[in-house]
Amino acid sequence: GRKLLMIPGPIEFEPEVLQAMGIPTNSHVAPDFIEIFGNSLELMREVWKSPTGQPFIVAGSGTLAMDMAAANLIEQGDRVLVISTGYFGQRFRDIMERYGAKTTFLEAPLGEVVSPEGIEKELKSQQYKALTITHVDTSTGVLVDPEPIAKLARKYNTLSILDGVCSVAGEKINQEEWGLDVVLTGSQKAIGVPPGLALLVASPKAMHVWKNRKSPVANYYADWNNWLPIMKAYEERRPSYFGTPAVNLIVALETSLKIIAVEGIEKRVNRHFNLAKAFRAGISSLNLEILPKSDEVAANTLTAAYYPSGIEGAALLSKIAQSEVVLAGGLLPEIKTKYFRIGHMGSVSANDLLAVLGALELALLKSGHQIEPGKSLQAFQQQLLKSD
Ligand code: PMP
Repeated sequence: GRKLLMIPGPIEFEPEVLQAMGIPTNSHVAPDFIEIFGNSLELMREVWKSPTGQPFIVAGSGTLAMDMAAANLIEQGDRVLVISTGYFGQRFRDIMERYGAKTTFLEAPLGEVVSPEGIEKELKSQQYKALTITHVDTSTGVLVDPEPIAKLARKYNTLSILDGVCSVAGEKINQEEWGLDVVLTGSQKAIGVPPGLALLVASPKAMHVWKNRKSPVANYYADWNNWLPIMKAYEERRPSYFGTPAVNLIVALETSLKIIAVEGIEKRVNRHFNLAKAFRAGISSLNLEILPKSDEVAANTLTAAYYPSGIEGAALLSKIAQSEVVLAGGLLPEIKTKYFRIGHMGSVSANDLLAVLGALELALLKSGHQIEPGKSLQAFQQQLLKSD
């Protein structure tokens, strides 16, 4: 049968989005493709809530969007504060250092966040050019509130860069009001498009800092000097060329952004919130420990939970796969074999999560774990009733 893909990206995509991938590939300078690209840039501003931001759509994965932010904004010797809640914080540090940044790594204890007080203390101690935040670290399922951090960044004249790969279009984001300078993502997560697009919106301040660089951007492909004229041209509905855009993926992106606009971003974020909360209730009812230490710091786009003691993880995941449900193992090297992850973003519905809980219960029972069949489905439904 057809498997239900419930990993934290790539996700299950809407049929219309997949159909868009299959259209005969158009010229990247054909008028109707120019229209689609221009629309996509405009629709991104709505999702990011960044009316004056500069959107970029470039072929590549989410890591390219991180690379692009670092390459364009960082120069040799710049100080960067990296706020980390897991694996992807470490990646941002590595990327920043590749461009010559001197980094300070503020790491939260596992399953927790760094306090705004701790961040302010660091920002006070020396002048930072930029700070990075991982909105949802996909390795831990920890959710960070970017708003107070972005405000602190403003106060100390530091650029704020949000890795929103696992959050944009699933968690609440208000780029302009919060004062975030860069918000970036990849297509395969809550934006709901197959893997292959790096998406980023830069604030006017970020663009100003980039324009006033002293040194050239040390990355040819990621250089905004190459891409800014292209984004401007598509938005003005003019043909232009730097690197061939991923035509079919961009048609799919426009399709998905229109679906998001029809649902409405607020409703979409609420749907993620209500389903995630109910899902955690289901997981907890089976006495599985959730990795984030509290509901406030638990992501609404994925859940990370420890295997019950005595259960071998890989075997459990393959038993779950026998029910045609695909979940993900751990990612954080230190505890990789001790926990697993379930993605619930994009088109996710109660149906999908009932299927996950059902498959999980069955696999636990087959593994000899004592649970009452249906318990997590009941907990899930009871919590959903409360949020209606
Ligand atoms: N940051 C976060 C928070 C992510 O979840 C991911 C992907 N799992 C990345 C960055 C990297 O994105 P990609 O795999 O598309 O390069």
